Amino acid sequence: MNAENQETAVTADRKYLLERIGEAAVVQLYADGFEHLPLNDKILCWHLYQAALAGRDIYYDQRYAHNLEMRALLEAIVTHPDGIDPVTLDAIIRYTKLFWINTGGFNNITARKFVPECAPEAFAAAVRVAAANGAALPLAAGESVDDLLARLHRPFFDREFEAIVTCKTPGEGRDILEASANNLYVGVVMKDLEGFEERYALNSRLTKTEQGIAEEVYRIDGRYAHHIARIVSHLEAAIAFAPPPTAAALQALVRFYRSGEIEDRRRYDIAWVADNESTVDTINGFIEVYMDARGAKGAWEALVYYVHPEKTAAVRAIADHAQWFEDHMPWDPQWRKPQVTGVSARAIEVIVEAGDSGPMTPIGINLPNDQEIRETHGSKSVSLSNVTEAYEKSMPREFRSEFSWSPDEVGRAERWGAVASELTTNLHEAIGHGSGLVSPQLNGAPEKALKEQFSAIEEARADLVALYFVADPYLVDIGVVPADALHEVVLAEYEAYARNALTQLRRIREGSQIEEDHMRNRQLIVHWLLANTEAIQIASRDGKTFYRMVDANAFREGVGRLLAEVQRIKAEGDYEAARELLETYGVHFDPELRDEVVARVERLNLPSYTAFVTPKLEPVRGDDGSIVDVRISYPRDLTAQMLEYSGVR
Ligand SMILES: [Zn+2]
Repeated sequence: MNAENQETAVTADRKYLLERIGEAAVVQLYADGFEHLPLNDKILCWHLYQAALAGRDIYYDQRYAHNLEMRALLEAIVTHPDGIDPVTLDAIIRYTKLFWINTGGFNNITARKFVPECAPEAFAAAVRVAAANGAALPLAAGESVDDLLARLHRPFFDREFEAIVTCKTPGEGRDILEASANNLYVGVVMKDLEGFEERYALNSRLTKTEQGIAEEVYRIDGRYAHHIARIVSHLEAAIAFAPPPTAAALQALVRFYRSGEIEDRRRYDIAWVADNESTVDTINGFIEVYMDARGAKGAWEALVYYVHPEKTAAVRAIADHAQWFEDHMPWDPQWRKPQVTGVSARAIEVIVEAGDSGPMTPIGINLPNDQEIRETHGSKSVSLSNVTEAYEKSMPREFRSEFSWSPDEVGRAERWGAVASELTTNLHEAIGHGSGLVSPQLNGAPEKALKEQFSAIEEARADLVALYFVADPYLVDIGVVPADALHEVVLAEYEAYARNALTQLRRIREGSQIEEDHMRNRQLIVHWLLANTEAIQIASRDGKTFYRMVDANAFREGVGRLLAEVQRIKAEGDYEAARELLETYGVHFDPELRDEVVARVERLNLPSYTAFVTPKLEPVRGDDGSIVDVRISYPRDLTAQMLEYSGVR
């Protein structure tokens, strides 16, 4: 057997879909080629992997103040189950799995609370049995089991109590921080922040005290000191095995974790962007601001990954022509960059994701978020190849056919769907986010002007860039798409994009409003096209609704028009226009249509969202204790991995 056949044989045996918990699917992620990395790179991965897991609990705590105690209690039960009523135990195990997948009791997509499917009394009885079995409970000093259960009763069981983790549209007269249950602010409302000088916008928790607002800084001697000290010790161990540019970036990161100062974060961002040729890389820190209704506080996350050489060649071909794309942006020429600073784009294999990026993961990442650094130093963009592959391999066939109007559309989705989606992800990350200028009056910080609308507007902008250029014959000229495939790829992508506005509604089973920014942007684009072009038709057959993409030229022309406006909004920081656009097209949906979509996916037992079990690394030590190899394996078990990460098993 040659190497290629072996590869296929391995793939054919692979188990991707591990289990279903209600609307969630659990899928194993595989990282090919790790075995063949040089030893130094493997050891580097091992230390970075430990640094990633060392910060996992920071995100649990940021997401909800009671999260870590709730998790400890759940894990105490599931590891000491003997004698618990089986129906109750089943309900608790289901809830615990969803709790791990969503990093707490709020759905990652709807932001809403979910509760265990057992009575509080049955839950209490299970806790007592587990305690009698020797489980250690997260009791406060001097606290009884009853006190603990009383204290956590509302967080676990009361749907109306601290009901939404991030609430950007709480309704007239309500405050976005007060309406959000996350732990990024304590007792602070937006009004308190008028005139408040925030020194550590990204990496602090704001707490209202008698003396005013206090910033609790995330750094080695501040908030999360214990976790940050462990992260730093693993990063320091990694430095010895890192090539010079990576070592410089890791040193800068350690400095930032020590000081927490914005200048050190900038130096780290710059060093991280400069490190664009090394095989192994990591993201570790307070990065995305989606969880903060105000769009300022960074949620902690970490990823460790290495480059996939062949797929990287494809995305590089796009990134290398970034200036051409910039020169052809369908927006006011004053917002085009005369000189695009390097977008370094790579396709990667992810080894581990923790915090905000796992067990539910993005498929593409473009960082840093600091607009000023992007403009002067460029950005790094990665597409997560093994995640995209695992999604494809685990998605049932019916998912496409149920929502496609014609057999042609199904055929295109099957033949070209994966290619088209990888291509648009590459365009979104390597060209979209890095493109465009903003007005100097915004001081490099459009997010300050657009506030809670910023993230959805920026995601819409990057998606629109991808949708606009995916239909450009220039992709054929630069060898990214074969000439005879372009038309089919474009149809496959536009059809899938239109379908998605319908199918994504399955993820929001309550209410009639979208909170998640990527979903808002996708809803915005399709509904704007429905209202302003002839590109998409709403059709109906056998009582089922279809979003039919009927005119690809009109689709692209509409995308170009909307993109010009979205870029203007970002460039000028036009908050009112951003709010209006999202409120009109992106936030609200028809709950009856959602009920129809949910009924269709339930009949086919299709998942609404996917969580991943990531590979496991273990060092192999020689007689003198030094690491002589690092072994990769695939746990194929969510519970085992989560308990291991928590240090419970
Ligand atoms: Zn994006």
